[in-house]
Amino acid sequence: MLDFSFTDEQGLLRKTLREFSLKELLPKYGYWDKREEYPYEPIKQILRIVNPYGSDWRQAANSTDLVIPGIIAEEIARGDFNCVLPSLSPFIMGRFLAEACDELKERWFPGLMTGDKVIGLCLTEPNAGSDLGALQTTASRDGDVYILNGEKNSVSFLNADVFYVFARTTPGSSGYRGISAFLMPRETEGLEFSPYHDLGCRAVPRGQLFMSDAKLSASCMVGCEGEAFRMIMKYFDINRAFIGLMCLGAATQTLDETIKYVKEKSAFGLSLSRFEGVAFPISEAATQLELGRLLCYKILWMKQNDMQCTLEAAMAKWWVPKTCVEVIHECLLLHGHYGYTNEFPIEQRLRDVIGWQIGDGTPQIQKLIISRILLGRDFAPMT
Ligand SMILES: Cc1cc2nc3c(=O)[nH]c(=O)nc-3n(C[C@H](O)[C@H](O)[C@H](O)COP(=O)(O)OP(=O)(O)OC[C@H]3O[C@@H](n4cnc5c(N)ncnc54)[C@H](O)[C@@H]3O)c2cc1C
Repeated sequence: MLDFSFTDEQGLLRKTLREFSLKELLPKYGYWDKREEYPYEPIKQILRIVNPYGSDWRQAANSTDLVIPGIIAEEIARGDFNCVLPSLSPFIMGRFLAEACDELKERWFPGLMTGDKVIGLCLTEPNAGSDLGALQTTASRDGDVYILNGEKNSVSFLNADVFYVFARTTPGSSGYRGISAFLMPRETEGLEFSPYHDLGCRAVPRGQLFMSDAKLSASCMVGCEGEAFRMIMKYFDINRAFIGLMCLGAATQTLDETIKYVKEKSAFGLSLSRFEGVAFPISEAATQLELGRLLCYKILWMKQNDMQCTLEAAMAKWWVPKTCVEVIHECLLLHGHYGYTNEFPIEQRLRDVIGWQIGDGTPQIQKLIISRILLGRDFAPMT
């Protein structure tokens, strides 16, 4: 039986978050961007509303609800795109760090669930982006410690208190085998940081992390040695739905603002909305956003029901952010020259959303995944 409705509880959360997002977050969306400052306080405020577990990390670790974080992603992105990912922590940490031992969960989850602590994911390297199997960072065992050496060069949340670092633990291994993951505290000796100056998402520092003889207790390893790639791949599917939903939140809010604007602004003696050239792009955008939303929630529903959804997640990852960028761009044009100024949040949304066409996997890589599933490896593009 199909059911596309939200429960009363989900509907109420959506309403509460929409009001909060537009009243509290949206007016300061540009503030954090201009100062390139991480929005700690807004994120803590959001978590005070949405986190049902307080600091009970065991409950969070067992959280299975994926629709609620989907709603959070959409609604928070209406106000501030850059507050979304940390706001999902209470619901997603249990999956993101599923194989971490209780000791590690107890150490990190409570702070992440309140926004007092920040986590950064360290996969990408200068020679390993799309081709993660080319990862070169090493972690060599020496008694009770691992010694890490290497460079991660696209770490979002470079301000993090803890880094989820992927490194090669099996000497001489190649491809996706022999890679392990660690939770590395920021204060670990041997780390250096170098931030980028990005086109968008400026409130979330992104940059390079250099590790030189960084010593980590062996107890910081997440999951089994050499098995980390398989572990993180499981998380990518739902992350792609959340990325889609946050892009959709930003685009839908932009569309709502545009609908209001074109009804109020006039040219040639008529409201702009009276011109087919203005109204039809709005109709098309609304249609596309609805399709994207259905796909993203379908992925969450599939995952919640333990169904394989790699195909759908790859579809969402290449198509939804791209569509949202196009919708926001069209809306910017429909605002005329004002849309091009930073008096409206549209230019910032455009800059912010573009980043997530690349982050977590480019469109080409998603199409590669889709073609491998549909055509079979023997008939799909080689790499
Ligand atoms: C906003 C943002 C946030 C990010 N956050 C993080 C993070 O927190 N942690 C992290 O580890 N990484 C992060 N990344 C990095 C991101 O995951 C990588 O940039 C991405 O996987 C692509 O890798 P690359 O940049 O090295 O590009 P490359 O792999 O060098 O690719 C360059 C171009 O070539 C294309 N290409 C590559 N291989 C193929 C192929 N086989 N067929 C067709 N085309 C191909 C790509 O699609 C791309 O267009 C982030 C990136 C952005 C922009």
